[in-house]
Amino acid sequence: MEKGHISVQTENIFPIIKKFLYSDHEIFLRELVSNAVDATKKIKGLAQLGEYQNDLGDLTIKVSIDKDAKTITISDSGIGMTAEEVKKYINQIAFSSANEFIEKFKDVDDAKSIIGHFGLGFYSAFMVAHTVEIQTRSYKDEPAVKWTCDGSTEYSLEEIEKSERGTTIILHVNEDSEEFLEEGRISGLLKKYCRFLPVPIQFGEKYLSEEDKKEGKEAEANIINITEPIWVKSPSGLTDEDYLEFYRELYPMANDPLFWIHLNVDYPFNLTGILYFPPLNKTYEVQKDKIQLYSNQVFVTNNVEEIVPEYLTLLHGVIDSPDIPLNVSRSYLQADGNVKKINQHISKKVSDKLAEIFKNDRTSFEEKWADISIFVKYGMLSDDKFYDRSKNFCLLKSTANKLYTLEEYKEFIKDNQTDKNESLVILYTNSEIEQHAYIKKANEKSYDVVVMDSIIDNHFIQLLESKFEKTQFKRVDADTLDKLIEKDTAYESVLTQEQQDNLKQIFENQVSKDTTTVEMKSLSPDDAPVTITKNEFMRRMQEMSKMGGGGGMMMFGDMPERINIAVNTNHPISQKILNAADADKNKIAKQLTDLALLSQGMLKGEALTDFVERSVGIITQ
Ligand code: ADP
Repeated sequence: MEKGHISVQTENIFPIIKKFLYSDHEIFLRELVSNAVDATKKIKGLAQLGEYQNDLGDLTIKVSIDKDAKTITISDSGIGMTAEEVKKYINQIAFSSANEFIEKFKDVDDAKSIIGHFGLGFYSAFMVAHTVEIQTRSYKDEPAVKWTCDGSTEYSLEEIEKSERGTTIILHVNEDSEEFLEEGRISGLLKKYCRFLPVPIQFGEKYLSEEDKKEGKEAEANIINITEPIWVKSPSGLTDEDYLEFYRELYPMANDPLFWIHLNVDYPFNLTGILYFPPLNKTYEVQKDKIQLYSNQVFVTNNVEEIVPEYLTLLHGVIDSPDIPLNVSRSYLQADGNVKKINQHISKKVSDKLAEIFKNDRTSFEEKWADISIFVKYGMLSDDKFYDRSKNFCLLKSTANKLYTLEEYKEFIKDNQTDKNESLVILYTNSEIEQHAYIKKANEKSYDVVVMDSIIDNHFIQLLESKFEKTQFKRVDADTLDKLIEKDTAYESVLTQEQQDNLKQIFENQVSKDTTTVEMKSLSPDDAPVTITKNEFMRRMQEMSKMGGGGGMMMFGDMPERINIAVNTNHPISQKILNAADADKNKIAKQLTDLALLSQGMLKGEALTDFVERSVGIITQ
């Protein structure tokens, strides 16, 4: 037996490895199984090239646990290692990387980001094991060897009997890590990291009923992975059902996706994957962490925020890129040029796909719009390029349930909805129920109203206003509507100026000057006698500061909501108020104001109780 000293500058690197990988101890299994997969791929490769002529045999990788012996064993029938190779790859290479790692980590906050770069892979075994054994026999005609190391810098290497080609790694699990001797824990980890690895991986046996056992049946190997997940296949050979089946495999509880994109790039970076659009509707239930990132079919993470543009993290599916190291860290990804390109590529693919559906099947696109509008708007808000690619299929929905592209909509309203400055006025509602009366009024005047009721729409409106020339968005209860109407049909007031002033005074007596302004309007006698409107600018500012706009916005948030009361001087009741006895004047004005507030759901608390009591009084009179 040969004994040797692993050449490291520091006495014991394992405490350091343990410390820095502490939260991620479980990745040892991913590292060791990945090594086994690599070794298996290599022997297959050699066989294909004719450099290995013997029978490949069963290439299944086997993972097992022995609770009594407190060991975890991972064995493969891969390429194996000769004694020289063990010395070279395990003793030298890995440890020199580890040394380099130790040198570097001193100055780096995020130590994890460099682990992946220094191939601590195999040594992660020492996070859970006090002693690690490698028994390996190369495909070359050389004796098998056993390497043992107890976590100090000393190792032993000896020849052993091993008839089968390949490598067996035995971990003697340390006291702190006995959780990994539980079947459930290991099968959970295999499911998480190894579910789509390209070589069959066996963990235990399939359940065999007593009856089957009596009949002398033998238990089948329990293979935990799908060796050829659909993202590695060519899209031309796949059916919709294949995609749906894979989706259900990934997210057993989710509703079926709306559509999907099969990514397949090999230049300037390698990337495959499938992104699914889940039905989202208006809810914007943030279901992030649904995209899984793989590197050569090894699961890496489901936190893909740096790789996928933020707005697309709402998508589901898998992305696989060997260009991304196994141990990804945010800072690494932020700095990586490839990642930026991947990011842009995915964004482009997504908008291309949407454009294609829009072009080829507008009906189907319109059906899906409610579910995808969040992605699209979010994307347009966050990424100028995405805005440019999406502006031609981004839709506006009118309260009449019709969908228009932005340009179509501007064209549709251009003759009818302009203000005094010839600026286009897009009327919108963020609640068809609450603003029903206003929508009705707008429609009666043949104005169209679009529905902007998702959480993102406030921002989206501002974006469109900044992109469109001479176009404003006004909520349907904004004071603009009256101005639009005034411009269309100018009504003369039937009241003299003096009468109007009197009327204004009566209404002003009913309200608080701090929160309410009163305005006389000459509208049609058929219009409502009193309408409540809000100043668009003030309302937006207030809403933004409520949502935490911060800074200068706060001043708006502290102020009470301001409203405007428009009294229609041409409504017959205006005349009636002026003619009424003094006591009744106030009563009628108050009642009208309260009715207008009530219709907007703005009459609350004491004011509402007073109103009800007053109304009962009026009816009883
Ligand atoms: P990496 O896999 O990043 O190269 P590792 O520390 O995990 O780093 O492994 C070091 C080397 O040891 C590998 O490159 C490989 O040559 C060898 N090795 C590890 N595991 C196996 C195995 N199961 N079969 C054959 N060779 C292996």
